[in-house]
Amino acid sequence: MSPSFNLILDLEELTSNEQIQEDILEEILTLNANTEYLHRFLHGSSDKELFKKNVPVVTYDDVKPYIERVANGEPSDVISGGAITMFLRSTGTSGGKQKIFPVNDMYIKKLGYVIALQSLAVSKHFDSGGEKGKAMEFHCTKPPSATPSGLPITAVFSSFFMSDYFKNRPSKCNSEYTSPDQVILCPDYKQSLYCHFLCGLVQRDEVVSVGATFAYVLVRAIDFLKNNWKELCSNIRSGHVSEWITDLNCKNAVTTILGGPNPKLADVIEQECSNKSWEGIISQLLPKAKYIDCIITGQMAQYIPTLDFYSNKLPLVSTTYGSSESTFGMNVDPLCKPQDVSYTFAPNISYFEFLPVDHEGDMTSIVDLADVKLGCYYEPVVTNYFGLHRYLIGDILQVTGFYNNTPQFRFVHRKNVVLSVKSETTTEDELLKASAHATVVLESSNLMLMGFTCYADISTFPGHYVFYWELKAKGGNDVFELDKKVMVKCCSVLEESFDELYRRNRSEDRTIGALEIRVVQQGAFDSLMEYFVSLGGSIAQYKTPVCINSSSEALAVLENKVLARFYSAKPPPL
Ligand code: AMP
Repeated sequence: MSPSFNLILDLEELTSNEQIQEDILEEILTLNANTEYLHRFLHGSSDKELFKKNVPVVTYDDVKPYIERVANGEPSDVISGGAITMFLRSTGTSGGKQKIFPVNDMYIKKLGYVIALQSLAVSKHFDSGGEKGKAMEFHCTKPPSATPSGLPITAVFSSFFMSDYFKNRPSKCNSEYTSPDQVILCPDYKQSLYCHFLCGLVQRDEVVSVGATFAYVLVRAIDFLKNNWKELCSNIRSGHVSEWITDLNCKNAVTTILGGPNPKLADVIEQECSNKSWEGIISQLLPKAKYIDCIITGQMAQYIPTLDFYSNKLPLVSTTYGSSESTFGMNVDPLCKPQDVSYTFAPNISYFEFLPVDHEGDMTSIVDLADVKLGCYYEPVVTNYFGLHRYLIGDILQVTGFYNNTPQFRFVHRKNVVLSVKSETTTEDELLKASAHATVVLESSNLMLMGFTCYADISTFPGHYVFYWELKAKGGNDVFELDKKVMVKCCSVLEESFDELYRRNRSEDRTIGALEIRVVQQGAFDSLMEYFVSLGGSIAQYKTPVCINSSSEALAVLENKVLARFYSAKPPPL
């Protein structure tokens, strides 16, 4: 039996979360009560109070043996009352560990629902005067791998775009994207990206938004355009798609969209792309684009200055918050500033509980969605339909407000991403904020930070923080001089941004050494991405890790590309 799933059809109905959550829990417990996993704690009961009393709060290692048994061919009901038909692979770039999560079509439907609700929120804010524009979105798919029992393993968005749900979506008749589905479904990332550009550029006058799921993909796409615009223009001029596009479904669909030679358009694009500086290139190539649609919170915040530069500060709309474990919610205020983005939890997706950050080991302090308090910090705990019960997500969120009655959260940082040399712990959020401060110094010398990550080098005493930075000149020169003074200042600004304990350890106790920035060659962060994707991840879901402490292979990728090293000149003031 498949559980019922009532869509909230309008944003205004995103309310009464308490009752919806109760119903969701009841449905999940009825579905899963007799699974081997839940039976251990509930003995076949689906009583909600017993669930809260007996079922432990867990992490991946606790449920991994059950998940692996299903992946290896045992029946779904080891862990899930509903049939498991596929596994989602999380990017796992936080700890370098890949995780897989069992799901079925219901996951896709719920994700589709959140995306639809999100686009409703966006369309309310961007009135196109009745005229329906198109979105130029760089979506792609990676063919699934398989579990030993033959079930597919894919990334969330790959599974979404390959699903019947996406294939048969109602909005398809409006050709909401500039690219046909064949381009999104092309298994070769480079061919897909090239064709996205061809389709988007020939329909440039209809494009109202440019997007990708995560900001990183968009920044990378613009880099790709830098290297390929001459060939793209030559294709537009002749009306023929390059020979190296060998995916025939994709090629045929794109050829139809090209619609024959268009030398006039090729001239216009050539002229824009020939400009030495690419400041505002998105707005120049796509003059009717009103906003950029991609996630820019959490790890993606580092790409905000770059996207601002390329788009002349078009509004950045950070859309949804989710994971392979569950979709969580959406941003109902798309025009808010990047630092104010909050996500409203959709109460009909999974059963959500929240563990206060300061729980001090007391698991009974966990609260329901309806009971979170404004301003407080929590880690979400998810019970989904597919076998995760009271599962800790590992993200830290802060309650920022309520939409109707439904809590809204700011993404703060991921729990286990910290740098630490001694007693101090510098969180992902603090590292991102420090980098944003240092970026301001870089701006003054016309440089852009294209990517960063860091680790705590404790191989020497005292240990110290090491930042890898990939830089680009704003003026478009690929070769540029690094000003030592500026770089040393950046080291100091980073250190000054850290908390008192860091500064004390560094200044008084001298147990932390001078912070180091290692500037890496251009393309180094693409190599890092390729390394992580080679482990099984998907480019569309890739998030540059803010810290790479735990992966010596990833460190080696960057270490081979170091061009220059700079150190802070003196300890930061207290
Ligand atoms: P994955 O399972 O690979 O899809 O990764 C899920 C993780 O990505 C989440 O737990 C978050 O840490 C991060 N993430 C997803 N959406 C957002 C968002 N909107 N803002 C910040 N981080 C996000």
